[in-house]
Amino acid sequence: MKNNRYLYLIVLGYFLLGLVNIHFALLGLVCMSIPLILLFKNTQKTWCQGYCPRASLLNKVGKSRLGRSKASPKFFSRGNMKWIMLIYFGISLTFITISTLRVASAGVAPMEMLRLLIVIPLPFDMPQLIELSGMASWLTHLSYRFYSMMLTTTLIGLTLSLLYKPRTWCSVCPISTISSQYISQKTKKNQAFE
Ligand code: SF4
Repeated sequence: MKNNRYLYLIVLGYFLLGLVNIHFALLGLVCMSIPLILLFKNTQKTWCQGYCPRASLLNKVGKSRLGRSKASPKFFSRGNMKWIMLIYFGISLTFITISTLRVASAGVAPMEMLRLLIVIPLPFDMPQLIELSGMASWLTHLSYRFYSMMLTTTLIGLTLSLLYKPRTWCSVCPISTISSQYISQKTKKNQAFE
């Protein structure tokens, strides 16, 4: 199955919607859930093989660069980089969850700024074309944190696609690592019952 070449518009739309109002960033939860739902249903990387908007964006950007793309370093394709990214992903989700719970339960002020790699603040405020009144502060906090995580991983993916093969990010993408582990465990289990 080929990845649709226009799916990258969904990624661009996602980041643009964040400029309309940051709460649209919560749509990222849907993007994160669908690959896992498809994985548990089919025991295949259905999302990666045909529906991933980020893969479409990486292809688009990577293939439009000038010059020949280099093969990705072995550290990415066969080394520990995928585990490092998985750990980053786990730490990031833990941080998002704990800080959102603190805002919701302890009345801590929401962090209304973007941060790359969890800790690096971006030196500008997100323009907000539409202000929504009455939103719970923890939802605002969660939205900024989610947008930050999506932005971080997209920027890493784009940088890799410009330096190496367009889909180098896919070799270290946490969704891919989780999927591979799940499929391998499931296959082993099925073989044990045969
Ligand atoms: S590995 Fe990640 S970025 Fe690549 S296709 Fe799968 S989900 Fe998308």
